[in-house]
Amino acid sequence: MVGWYHSHPDHPARPSAYDREHAWPWYSYVIVSVQSGAPGEMTSWRLADDRAEFSAEAIAIRQHASA
Ligand SMILES: [Zn+2]
Repeated sequence: MVGWYHSHPDHPARPSAYDREHAWPWYSYVIVSVQSGAPGEMTSWRLADDRAEFSAEAIAIRQHASA
């Protein structure tokens, strides 16, 4: 378990005040913006230890090439 994933229908892929109040500092929170039913921007966030704010994390997509 490394984190949580949820979508924001017709809202930007940024944490809301609700997200911050219900998050823990030691997990990653991936948010996908869904605009009119179509997935858009995907971001990942980690809450500061004092729970004051989220900071953005880089998302790495790894692919395994077949030999
Ligand atoms: Zn949210």
